[in-house]
Amino acid sequence: MPQDWVKRSLRSVWHPCTQMQHHETVPLIPVSHGRGAWLYDHEGKRYLDAISSWWVNLFGHANPRINAALKDQLDRLEHAMLAGFTHEPVIRLSEQLSELTGRVLGHAFYASDGASAVEIALKMSFHAWRNAGHTDKQEFVCLKGSYHGETIGALAVTDVALFKDAYGPLLRASRVVESPDARNAREGETAQDVARRAAKDVEELFNERAGKIAAIIIEPLVQCATGMAMHDPLYLALVRELCDRHSVHLILDEIAVGCGRTGTFFACEQAGIWPDFLCLSKGISGGYLPLSLVLTRDEVYEAFYSTDIRRGFLHSHSYTGNPLACRAALATLQIFKEDNVLATNRERYARLTRALQPLADHERTRHFRQAGMIWAFDAVEPDAARAATFSRRFFGAALDNELLLRPIGRTVYLMPPYILSDEEMDGLAEHTRKVFESVIAA
Ligand SMILES: *Cc1c(COP(=O)(O)O)cnc(C)c1O
Repeated sequence: MPQDWVKRSLRSVWHPCTQMQHHETVPLIPVSHGRGAWLYDHEGKRYLDAISSWWVNLFGHANPRINAALKDQLDRLEHAMLAGFTHEPVIRLSEQLSELTGRVLGHAFYASDGASAVEIALKMSFHAWRNAGHTDKQEFVCLKGSYHGETIGALAVTDVALFKDAYGPLLRASRVVESPDARNAREGETAQDVARRAAKDVEELFNERAGKIAAIIIEPLVQCATGMAMHDPLYLALVRELCDRHSVHLILDEIAVGCGRTGTFFACEQAGIWPDFLCLSKGISGGYLPLSLVLTRDEVYEAFYSTDIRRGFLHSHSYTGNPLACRAALATLQIFKEDNVLATNRERYARLTRALQPLADHERTRHFRQAGMIWAFDAVEPDAARAATFSRRFFGAALDNELLLRPIGRTVYLMPPYILSDEEMDGLAEHTRKVFESVIAA
């Protein structure tokens, strides 16, 4: 039976971000059910979901509190259009998110996936400038190694060669500035020095052509998809200041790093700044349902407020503000409060960081790094052919050790849900080390 599911899936399901041919050797796991941090296959084998199912699951699979909220919502209202109608879940969610930003970002615009939130932020920035008479502001700036999603607009501000090169001719050019990735430190430089150097690059660009630039988009603190590149919060404070000085919008893409992932609810809190647009998705619904949104300021909202429909923000999705997804998000925010999650996570990441020390000190690893509930290190694999297959080999070996881990190239990272017990964390560290040893030795 399980073998049958695999065959049927490979015949009819086109899997994302996958060279389907690789499934001739890479396993495809038919998941039967999930419980807590664990996924179970049809043979009863289990896997610790150490990457939160692509960074979305915060409080485990089949979470009783989120399940209960969704069952209750299901009997009230599954969906209604959000143009001309509104409903309690979307109102309460917007209010609570506004509250979490100290009411600086008091207006929430909804969509379903992360890439759509990025599209919205880009369009909204451009249109806000146009409504204010700044019709020349049409360009966007992104960082080296940035990832903001894979639709045409989001891909245009993404700088991951694998995703971008194939579709290059379809994309509008954007300006790419240096990444503040702390691994770029030169001899004797601190992470803050790298941040200052990268901010200088933004300043030079702004000096030259701020009049043409609508916005700069940044993944604050951790550029995740490029390989968990981490930077000092100083960078965000410096860029915020440059944006103010040169009248450029700051878009912070917190799709991966928001919702407590880096230790604070929003990553930008660590820099003591707020953006003009903040994109949220992934963890916001607890990993249950597709939901994304853009939070923005009064000034932006007011730039669209008019009797003229063409000055309004012209954007919609069929499932905008879906009540079930909003209700899952409300249950997720409730858990943050009830369980004091940001504080208990601090104990979690202190423990797991200690447990991972043998990997940090390992002679075949470099740049061990951690930000909140994200850990990463780069494997040293001198042989080019072996380096190219490192990720796939690691993934397979991890599955054999009850772990779901998918390295990005040679970067091994952990991004587990916020519910791991001490035993689960110690086991995760121990198994990760074991898998790593076997993969570099094989
Ligand atoms: C995942 C991600 C996106 C895209 O979200 P999707 O829901 O996959 O479209 C955008 N930005 C960042 C930083 C992400 O990690």
